[in-house]
Amino acid sequence: MEQVRADVCVVGAGFAGLAAARRLVHAGHEVVVLEARDRVGGRVWNRELPDGTVVSAGGTWLGKGQDRMFQLCRELGLDVYPQYEQGDHLLRLEGVNHRYRGVLPATGKGTLLALGLALSRLQLMTRRLPADAPWRARRARTWDARTLGQWLADPRNVPSATARTLLRSSMHLLFCADPAEVSLLGALTLARGGGGFGYYTDSRRTESHLVDGGAPELARRMAEHLGERVHLSSPVQRIADDSTCARVESDSLTVRAQRVIVATPPVLAGRIRFDPALPTACGHLLQRVVPGAIIRVHTVYPQPFWRERHLSGQTLAPHSPVPLTIDQTPRTGQPGVLSSYAFSTAALHLGRLEPAERREVWLDALAERFGPRARHPEQYLETDWSAEQWSLGGMIGHFPPGTLTNYGSALREPVGRIHWASTESATRMHGLMEGAVRSGERAAHEALTALSLGRRTVGT
Ligand SMILES: Cc1cc2nc3c(=O)[nH]c(=O)nc-3n(C[C@H](O)[C@H](O)[C@H](O)COP(=O)(O)OP(=O)(O)OC[C@H]3O[C@@H](n4cnc5c(N)ncnc54)[C@H](O)[C@@H]3O)c2cc1C
Repeated sequence: MEQVRADVCVVGAGFAGLAAARRLVHAGHEVVVLEARDRVGGRVWNRELPDGTVVSAGGTWLGKGQDRMFQLCRELGLDVYPQYEQGDHLLRLEGVNHRYRGVLPATGKGTLLALGLALSRLQLMTRRLPADAPWRARRARTWDARTLGQWLADPRNVPSATARTLLRSSMHLLFCADPAEVSLLGALTLARGGGGFGYYTDSRRTESHLVDGGAPELARRMAEHLGERVHLSSPVQRIADDSTCARVESDSLTVRAQRVIVATPPVLAGRIRFDPALPTACGHLLQRVVPGAIIRVHTVYPQPFWRERHLSGQTLAPHSPVPLTIDQTPRTGQPGVLSSYAFSTAALHLGRLEPAERREVWLDALAERFGPRARHPEQYLETDWSAEQWSLGGMIGHFPPGTLTNYGSALREPVGRIHWASTESATRMHGLMEGAVRSGERAAHEALTALSLGRRTVGT
């Protein structure tokens, strides 16, 4: 087996790993990146349809606050352009399609008031969390003992049945998990990092821009700059940390490094064999950050025909197995591409169906909102993120009750020579591409500090 030496070995070439490696190389260090897949990007992925149309099947949109991502796009010569937002959005409730504009659907004054009230209550709780240690908040234990689902189901918190349905549906979408599985504290932590739930529920702030060529093109360019330092198809099996260095072992390559940055989703970090074993809190934490379930389908039509009817392509149908659609037509305006999603338990259910049956259910759901033309796409492409061996789910991992208060302090705490990155460990823009980049840069900073301390110790 080939052996190489490096100052730092980075495990995983998603945005977190790539950002970490970039920082370290800029600081003049020898870096080796080991990536399990035969491509970089991880949860961002450009897929090509048979007709040559390229679609972004993972992380796609950049919004307010994704400053590092916008800056990286500029540095690497990539343009961004605004999401198509013209026309009406659709909300489908109890079999009826309602057109609306702006952030909140016009579902009656009572519903709007209840939504506003619930969101401002959540926002108030969010503000009480210390960004880097939410488990230290005064009410952390109480909030971590409850689920988001329990909180949303309480009419004292959300005093309207329609508002409860809408919020439950939005939260399903956000966590790609049933809110009954998500700790209230975990949900607040996600919102804390993004500047409140408003960030995630207000499409004007979240989904405002696309990267020309797709976010995966940014990852590709970052990797290009790293050149031969990036080794693809090299899943790391074992990390051994001894008194002189760390040995990071993949099937084909062993890297001996002073520091290691593990930049994989926590669930996959938990499958690496660590020698010596990880401290209990850290090992337990890695098993408890649960990836969500999401299937994304791209349907391609000769034209974005919904635009003729003054529809934006953005729809929400809380009771549908495919509750969300977004227009993902390329900048050129052709062909018409709809991106649609199944989340959480609906994604699990759809994932069990035969492909032909799933396609039927899916297209039926689109036709309910866009009419019969939606039933006959020229191309149909599914991406089931739970079936991706090196992601095991998406968009993000969530924290079930009890996780943050009992194990949260291990989230970013280095273990010997090992540092942790991934969007799940970010204190800002947690869950988003921005969070991944920031987590990688934070881990690189930790490694740089440790390397310079090591040098000083040797020098004295
Ligand atoms: C469908 C979907 C839609 C999304 N939409 C958006 C969006 O619009 N905007 C947004 O900001 N974010 C979005 N996200 C979230 C965003 O994509 C992620 O937050 C981000 O890409 C995570 O980056 P990461 O580096 O933390 O992890 P990953 O991208 O998962 O990278 C981890 C890497 O580690 C590798 N790896 C795993 N195990 C090993 C091992 N043992 N050895 C070596 N390598 C290993 C993996 O192959 C992977 O390349 C979306 C995600 C999905 C799935």
